[in-house]
Amino acid sequence: MNMDAEQRISFEDTQVAFCYKDNTALRKANFIFSLVSHPWISAVATGSVKLALKLHLPVESIIKSTVFDHFCAGESLEKCDDEIEQLGKFGVGTILDYSVEGENSESSFDATMEEILRTIEKASRFKSIPFSVFKMTGLASSELLEKINAKQSLTDEEEKAFGRVRNRVDRICAMAHAHKVRVLIDAEETWIQDPIEALANEMMLRYNLEKAIVFNTYQLYRTASLKNLRDAHHTATMHQHYLGAKLVRGAYMEKERERAEEMNYTSPIHPTKDATDEAFNQALAFCMDNKQRISVMCGSHNEYSNHYLTVLMEKHSLKNTDERIWFAQLYGMSDNISFNLAQAGYKVAKYVPYGPVRSVMPYLLRRASENTSVAGQSSRELVMIKKELARRKSEKV
Ligand SMILES: Cc1cc2nc3c(=O)[nH]c(=O)nc-3n(C[C@H](O)[C@H](O)[C@H](O)COP(=O)(O)OP(=O)(O)OC[C@H]3O[C@@H](n4cnc5c(N)ncnc54)[C@H](O)[C@@H]3O)c2cc1C
Repeated sequence: MNMDAEQRISFEDTQVAFCYKDNTALRKANFIFSLVSHPWISAVATGSVKLALKLHLPVESIIKSTVFDHFCAGESLEKCDDEIEQLGKFGVGTILDYSVEGENSESSFDATMEEILRTIEKASRFKSIPFSVFKMTGLASSELLEKINAKQSLTDEEEKAFGRVRNRVDRICAMAHAHKVRVLIDAEETWIQDPIEALANEMMLRYNLEKAIVFNTYQLYRTASLKNLRDAHHTATMHQHYLGAKLVRGAYMEKERERAEEMNYTSPIHPTKDATDEAFNQALAFCMDNKQRISVMCGSHNEYSNHYLTVLMEKHSLKNTDERIWFAQLYGMSDNISFNLAQAGYKVAKYVPYGPVRSVMPYLLRRASENTSVAGQSSRELVMIKKELARRKSEKV
């Protein structure tokens, strides 16, 4: 896909990119990205951390002062205020992401719902928290979602459990609607995604009548996603509600492919990275062509896609500040994209994870592995960090 407009924005300005990090934080980032960029050091480090946690060795304070501090804002909602304020100072919004994973009981689902409600309440008080977010597997058992996805019949108990899931989701979306805080529903594995999408569509029908409050997530590495997006737009048009669409490429590619091979069905993932990229950029263009009905979030660290969206906005004569168009990256990653976009006036937010150190470990381990395995990703981060460290040093001389 060719970009048919002049380069509108540069992501190269490291002074802007790291404006919110002091020298200590930047040196820490340098250390972390240098470490994880070496596959074998990364493997040894993550293996040792997993073992140490299993053996209940006291490694939490080391993790807390290194990777946790870089990728997370705090151990509780109250402890995130400094980060929210710091990002907000530079025009970058915060999306508080309660990143506790692996809990699987009715009481933990209720507790997670209560926590999400607290993030919405907090968002209603902070101008720089434009969205809230949740994962359905924080509110429902994966086994139940998988059974529904596979269209298996449910026992009475399971029917009741799903009723409780629907109530939790409804309470979150109702509160988001009442406080005018947008809410993102993350996308997960294909074998549980149908009921997630169905609930997201149900909530959009109920709460998106005045504007997009509820956002579903479309994973464009899935061959089915462009059609799903078009169908959702068609439904929104028929029922006269707004469509909230968070576009991502998708985080579970290896797992998806392995399962498809193991269980002998056609992989639901595009065969190549180029095909995923093409679908992602087409989805951006589709959302922009239908901007009267769709609000879009580009959830990506891909420079081309972020830049392409700015080009599309210009083509559609939209202001950089248009409330319907959002850019989002993860906290601790791709600051060059987030902060340069924000400086140019675009609507930008960071997913900012928080939660007890031990409970957010699966999230942190994913970040470590992602920055090791995605070709070019960590070296690009590292080059930027080193460039900024050198720039600051030369400024002092
Ligand atoms: C704000 C935000 C929210 C997110 N929310 C979600 C979510 O709800 N659900 C979710 O699943 N993910 C989510 N992600 C993660 C996202 O899906 C990607 O894994 C991640 O952002 C990397 O993709 P990228 O667009 O940044 O860029 P890139 O680094 O350019 O793309 C990497 C991605 O391309 C795809 N890809 C790579 N190689 C191939 C190949 N050989 N064939 C086909 N496709 C390939 C994969 O999806 C891979 O993750 C989110 C990311 C962000 C920034």
